[in-house]
Formats: sequence, C-alpha cells, structure tokens
Amino acid sequence: MITRRPTVTVNVGGVPVGSAHPIVVQSMTNTDTANAEATAIQVAQLARAGSELVRVTVNTREAAAAIPEIIARLEEVGLNVPIVGDFHYNGHILLREYPETARLLAKYRINPGNVGAGQHHDANFATMIEVAKEFDKPVRVGVNWGSLDQQVLARLMDENTAQGSPKSGTDVMIDAMVISALESAQYAESLGLAHDRILISVKVSSAPELWQVYRKLAAQCDYPLHLGLTEAGMGMKGMVASSVALAPLLTEGIGDTIRVSLTPEPGASRKLEVEVAQQILQSLGLRQFLPQVTSCPGCGRTTSSFFQELAQKIQDYIRDAMPDWKARYPGVEEMQVAVMGCIVNGPGESKHANIGISLPGTGEDPRAPVYQDGKLLTTLRGPRIAEDFQDLLETYVERRYGLQEVRQ
Ligand code: SF4
Repeated sequence: MITRRPTVTVNVGGVPVGSAHPIVVQSMTNTDTANAEATAIQVAQLARAGSELVRVTVNTREAAAAIPEIIARLEEVGLNVPIVGDFHYNGHILLREYPETARLLAKYRINPGNVGAGQHHDANFATMIEVAKEFDKPVRVGVNWGSLDQQVLARLMDENTAQGSPKSGTDVMIDAMVISALESAQYAESLGLAHDRILISVKVSSAPELWQVYRKLAAQCDYPLHLGLTEAGMGMKGMVASSVALAPLLTEGIGDTIRVSLTPEPGASRKLEVEVAQQILQSLGLRQFLPQVTSCPGCGRTTSSFFQELAQKIQDYIRDAMPDWKARYPGVEEMQVAVMGCIVNGPGESKHANIGISLPGTGEDPRAPVYQDGKLLTTLRGPRIAEDFQDLLETYVERRYGLQEVRQ
C-alpha cells in the first residue's frame, strides 16, 4: 500500500492535482503550435489515449495567437482536455499581448531559469504571476537542469567554495535546482498567488539525481509535484529509464502528476508517452486504466508464434475497445485477463484471472480451455481460437460490467 505525500490540491482546468486525488497523466505535443489544425489533431490523439492534461509550447506570437483556435477545434469534437502553456524567455510578453490565450490556458509553466537575467528576471516573472492572478490560473514552476537559473547556481557555488568541506558540483547543482524552484514559488506567493495555485517540477535526466532532487523537494514543501525524467530518450531506452526513475519516487508517495518524455521514433505516434505513463502507474497499483493482460513469456513449450500473436491481439483488442467499454461498463478497467502458453502454468493463472485461456503447448492435445471466474467455461479447438476467445471476452465484459451498470 503506497501512502501519498500530503499536498495541497491544485485545480488545473477542472482536473484536481494533489495527494487527495489520483496521480494525473499528462503529455506534451511536438507539433508547431502555430499550426492550429495539426496541434489540435495531436492534442486530441493524446487526450483520447488518456492524457488528462496536454501541454503545448507557446513560444511565438503565432503560437500564442493559435491557442483559441486549437481549443475551439477540440471543443468541436467534444474534447475539453485542459491545455497547459509552456513558456520560456517571452512568456511575460505573450501572456500580456494575448489575453484570450491567457484566459483559455488551464495553467502556465514558468521556467525560472529563462525568464530573463538580472533585474529583468524578477520583473518578467512578476508579470506572469500577475496574469495568472488576473485570470485565476495555476502555474507550474518548472526548473530544468539544462536551463538552471545561473544566478542561483553562482550564489550556491560561492557559498560552497567558502565552506571548509565543499560539496561535489553535482550536489551543489541539485541544491541550486531545489532552491530555485522553492524560492520562485515563495516569490510567486509574495506577489499574491495563492499557495494552492502552484505546482513544482525539477527535472533532470539521470534517475539517481532525480531521486535526490525530489526527495529534497518533497521534504521541504507541500506543493503538488510534477514528476518526470527529462530527455528520457527514444524507444525502449526511454521507457526503461522513465520507469526506473519514476517508480521509486512514486512508491514513496512522491509525485502528483507525471509525464514520460519519450523521443518518438520517426513517424511513431506521440501517444506512446501516455501509454507508458499509464502503465507505470498501473504496474505500481496506483491507478487502473485498462484491463491487465497477464501473459507468460513463452518458452520451448510454445514453439509456434500463435501464442505471441494471440497475446498481442487480445492486448490490442482491449486497448481499442477501452474508450467504448469505459463509457458503457464501469469498472471494466479492473478486469484481469490471462493468455497463457501451455498446461504448466496456464490453467492455474487463468483461474486467477476474470477470464483466461490456456493454449496448447508443443505436443499437447490441440485444445485451449477457457476459465471464467475461476471455473472452466469451455474448451476451444480449431483454427478460430483467437476469434472465439475474443467473442467470449466481449460477452464476459457485457455480462459482468454491463450488469453492474444496471444495478447502479
Ligand atoms: S506457461 Fe508454459 S509456455 Fe508459458 S512460460 Fe510457462 S512453461 Fe512456458
């Protein structure tokens, strides 16, 4: 049982973020925000995949001007996912010049490392906070190690050098990031932004450093924390790195919203980052997004590819069916499905699932017993085992979770 670190709740466009609420999955587009059509299409893909907040970069006047059209296009197709604006360097200008955009965005991400140098730093930061107050918007103080506030870093380096036994450069950088985030949040509050209108993130690209940073942050404040490994990388490397980085912190109750920053492979869908984030939370038992398909790894007893194909087919079938199932069958995301390769563990694992199939291994009688709620339901044979199992699955979902709907 994971106990979440207590935080205040921040309402982000109707999505509550904080320890009293489920950990929120979010994502970010990679389209040119100024291209309202392309951005709206990608936001819709991410939202339909389960992203509960979607961030877009607002880097130019054209991008800022496109926000109302993006949101209008989403509303046209019935999507009201909160859109978060990611600001760097010129957020103070864009938020003032485009008040309709400032009004429509659900949250502003402010990077204290690049709001301006010297005297402009505080003035620009203050302008963004003033706009947030005016439109009653929350902000994320989002520190990133690649754009760390150099003034804070220099100050801490000097203090460190003056000490008898100085810390390592990495430790000073970690302290500087945490201090930059907390001092910026305190400054925002001193300007009148409410305590429960602030979230914090401090992203680095190494898992052990991320653990250090977030443990320090968690111990020093009760702001909700946005958790993510920055620049996680591509494909399997990015997925493993993000999972390894996020899991220990989430297990300690640290993290109220997560993003998995995957570099998509050329032509690949952006929504993979949403699916990975969901899978991390689901694997830790923190949230349930879709039925869990348990499949064995296969071994020398499953020499044909039929078993892998069926496991893949069922997984895809469930993912595709989920938007419809979720609306019609409350609780279906809790369902457990087993697709097992042979008689060794097949019947046992299938009996533990809501519905499970045990395929025949090499040399076994070519039949596939199907178990439902722990009991043998039927035995499938012949070339249509996959399709027949899919039909049984659909019938089970309708009977089990459809009845729940009627009862309520
Ligand atoms: S259930 Fe059978 S096929 Fe699957 S890993 Fe175990 S022994 Fe191998």
